[in-house]
Amino acid sequence: TTLSVESQVEKKRVFDGDKASLLVTELRKNFDSGKTKSYEWRISQLEAIAKMLVEKEEEIIDALVKDLSKPRMEAYITEIFQAKSACNEALQDLKHWMKPEKVSTSITTFPSSAEIVSEPLGVVLIISTWNFPMLLSLDPVIGAIAAGNTVVLKPSEISPATSSLLANLLESYLDNSAVRVVEGAVPETTSLLEQKWDKILYTGSARVGRIVMAAAAKHLTPVILELGGKCPAVVDSNINLQVTARRIIAGKWGCNSGQACISVDYIITRRDFAPTLITALKNELEEFFGKDPIESKGMSRIVSPTQFARLVRLLDEDKASDKIVLGGQRDEKTLKIAPTILLDVPEEAMVMQEEIFGPILPIITVDSIEDSFSIIKSRPKPLAAYLFTNNEQLKKDYVDKISSGGMLINDAVVHVATRGLPFGGVGESGMGAYHGKFSFDSFSHKKSVLYKGFDSDPSIRYPPYTPEKAKL
Ligand code: NAD
Repeated sequence: TTLSVESQVEKKRVFDGDKASLLVTELRKNFDSGKTKSYEWRISQLEAIAKMLVEKEEEIIDALVKDLSKPRMEAYITEIFQAKSACNEALQDLKHWMKPEKVSTSITTFPSSAEIVSEPLGVVLIISTWNFPMLLSLDPVIGAIAAGNTVVLKPSEISPATSSLLANLLESYLDNSAVRVVEGAVPETTSLLEQKWDKILYTGSARVGRIVMAAAAKHLTPVILELGGKCPAVVDSNINLQVTARRIIAGKWGCNSGQACISVDYIITRRDFAPTLITALKNELEEFFGKDPIESKGMSRIVSPTQFARLVRLLDEDKASDKIVLGGQRDEKTLKIAPTILLDVPEEAMVMQEEIFGPILPIITVDSIEDSFSIIKSRPKPLAAYLFTNNEQLKKDYVDKISSGGMLINDAVVHVATRGLPFGGVGESGMGAYHGKFSFDSFSHKKSVLYKGFDSDPSIRYPPYTPEKAKL
């Protein structure tokens, strides 16, 4: 029947396991040709990405506005500018990164020389997420190309405008025999994950991180998992209050409305200091977003009705709803939620159990600021941990005793833009790291090479290993 012909055509269009297998075979063949290994090829692709970011700036911002109603300037700074920096750094430093690293040799191999050679891994898969859909796609792609790999990118279906723009742009700007975009959701990603890759970089939730790692294990494929978690900010009373409040706001509500993996998830502060901190946050929030923040053009919306409903559930739960000290307003039509602060919600409340990933900020109070350590340590290791203080000993102890992917003292979020620092989680917040040289290293194999000549060939190294030889 006509219907069955149509459904057959439709089926053909679906990106299934066969298509995924063909794609990987093609990219592996192109990798094996050696072309992606050359310095020139890598530079040409990085230059193309840099050019694309300049020429298509408006289109990229339009897509981010469509997907998340990101304020245009925020979209530029947090996505385009960051991607440009990653690209420019790779362009500038690639020659240096690619150079074999000489290392000293030992007496046992004398005379010899040794070096570590960075070689590309082969065909890599990058699965990205929706909250910074452009940056979190391009940044790993830049690293994979810089290291000389062929790449498949699977952007998130939850940010469809950016996903389709990425597919179009990478197709027209980059070498399609080596870099490809596959759009889709769970079925397409599942087909991709069945294939043998040489590395997978996944950004998203720990739940799916487990699925990715299990699929990778079948092929002994190494993974980088960029996951999330609840990032704490400990706020001491010995601080510049206004600067602290402004930085927390920028790192929470000013950063994709809290839909960021390193946004401040909850605050821990001293009980007697909490009212002062809340007043400061209130004042600065009003300064930034006005009296009716839901109407403000300065804040992104929640990405989808599903995420909106999840956040509303967190707020409306009995254990949380009477703890709201600021905000709580929401607009289902525009998917906006006002900056909301909760004071002393119980540990069992959902808002303290799951990663918030939105504009809700619980404040937990303690008798002494040092009590914050045991609260953080009782939870899975976060992707970022923040501390605001002028107390040098407290800073030292925090760095020493708290384990987290990254750490930032007296600010929030901006450590991610320090390209000399690796970006990645630990424990439940992920494994492996990238950014700058760390991206290059993560997508390279570090091959140990020892060079020897034929002279100097003492008999002691050959059997039989007799006591007489030992005396020589
Ligand atoms: P998600 O895990 O639901 O989705 C991310 C990607 O996984 C998407 O491309 C999606 O298509 C794919 N996917 C979803 N379900 C799948 C399945 N069953 N099998 C195979 N693939 C599947 O994550 P999310 O909700 O988009 O992202 C939120 C999480 O991501 C938060 O925990 C956040 O902290 C984390 N995150 C981490 C970073 C980082 O850099 N560490 C950055 C942004 C977000």
